[in-house]
Amino acid sequence: MSHPIRVAIVGSGPSGFYAAEGLFKAGRGVQVDMFERLPAPYGLVRHGVAPDHAKLKEPMRVYEGIARSPEFRFLGNVTVGRDVSVDDLRAAYHAVLFCCGAESDRRLGIPGEDLPGSHTATEFVGWYNGHPDYRDRQFDLGQEVAVIIGQGNVAIDVGRILAKTVDELKHTDIAEHALECLAQSRIREIHLIGRRGPAQAKFTTKEFRELGELADCDPVVDAADLALNPESLAELEDRSGSVAKKNLEVLKGFAARPARAVRRRLFLRFLLSPVELEGDDRLQRVVLERNRLEGAAGRQSARGTGERITQASGLLFRSIGYKGVAIPGVPFDARQGIFPTRDGRIVDETGAPVPGLYASGWIKRGPTGIIGTNRADSLATVTSLLADLGALDAGPRPGAEGLAALASGRGPRVIGFEDWLVIDRAEVQRGAAKGKPREKFTRVGEMLQLVPRPLR
Ligand code: NAP
Repeated sequence: MSHPIRVAIVGSGPSGFYAAEGLFKAGRGVQVDMFERLPAPYGLVRHGVAPDHAKLKEPMRVYEGIARSPEFRFLGNVTVGRDVSVDDLRAAYHAVLFCCGAESDRRLGIPGEDLPGSHTATEFVGWYNGHPDYRDRQFDLGQEVAVIIGQGNVAIDVGRILAKTVDELKHTDIAEHALECLAQSRIREIHLIGRRGPAQAKFTTKEFRELGELADCDPVVDAADLALNPESLAELEDRSGSVAKKNLEVLKGFAARPARAVRRRLFLRFLLSPVELEGDDRLQRVVLERNRLEGAAGRQSARGTGERITQASGLLFRSIGYKGVAIPGVPFDARQGIFPTRDGRIVDETGAPVPGLYASGWIKRGPTGIIGTNRADSLATVTSLLADLGALDAGPRPGAEGLAALASGRGPRVIGFEDWLVIDRAEVQRGAAKGKPREKFTRVGEMLQLVPRPLR
């Protein structure tokens, strides 16, 4: 082939970087342009992983290595679907690979869900992680009782950040505005509420165990809640039940702990579903319905019993999973919040692949798995893309140089990888003064100001 194969990757989180790595390793001379709507790369590793989980941010160094490859270009501060259309990308590249994650949230669908005081976990996580979209969100931490709906790792992150002392957080990369606000927190009780039982909680054990290692907060579990029905006992004995089994040991340990004289308590509560959020002009009460489990082992679901209890609370976080967002020009499964795919190839409503469109990561498989899960997922998509090259390559494509919207000077200010490194160094420097790994810039304007304007 005399010309390079050009691939546009949309999104710069883990799945995007693993896809770029896979394309480079194939040795086919593929050139990658990675589009990202923020000036900063790394997606959920930067803005989703909790600030006190520094180890989970280490993949950023791997991604930086991939970005330094000569076949790679970063185009930050460019929103695909707004600044550049999908049709433009299809014309300028041999293939477009969407790795844009799941940027929205599932909804509970109950009355009062949008009362002030009821938030999504996404908003809170984005806020404490310095995501520009959530910089100006406000959370009333003057409340004494916070409720978190859902029992996955995001719920644990939210609960742990609410539970930790300032001393436990001040040397992390938590955003300054969040730390200042958390320092004033009056929260005494945090309720982590699951619709199913302890054997069905989605926590991973390492993260779950951390709830027992907090300086000024005790986990609280009612031992009676740990009695399991026969189906749940069978689930624990199943090969896929090993995490649940370990989680149950952790729960038993929590239940047996003597209470300490601590400022906060984190209650783990099971078999409860919110049915209504009540309050005059803001959240005051969460009405919960007690559930029982129904169905065979491995497929048990929560069924309401009709029994209702009310939990007073002025602050609630819905942490019940994420959903992808549509991009004009790409088929979208609105129910699941994903781009429908077969073997990584995006398919239309008839199930036929749309030539040149691919997906990987949460926008392909939904919001499941850990960072590393995306590696295998992206490699699978890359395998399909490479297999299609014969059909996709009908001659050279211009890549970013062919995107009139970017070349005109009227489009967004494009942030390249070297530009990002300037921002990165400035963040690290700001953090060092406070004993933090970095102090993120939380406004797009602040980041753009650091980068010299290109000469035209
Ligand atoms: P998740 O693990 O899927 O958990 C979602 C939780 O919401 C489940 O407890 C689910 O209960 C519950 N839920 C869903 N719909 C509900 C409803 N209508 N009413 C009440 N509860 C409802 O999702 P996640 O916590 O958002 O995490 C997403 C992914 O990121 C996961 O793979 C997670 O492991 C990963 N992650 C990892 C870390 C880490 O530190 N390693 C940190 C954050 C996230 P059911 O089980 O009954 O559906």
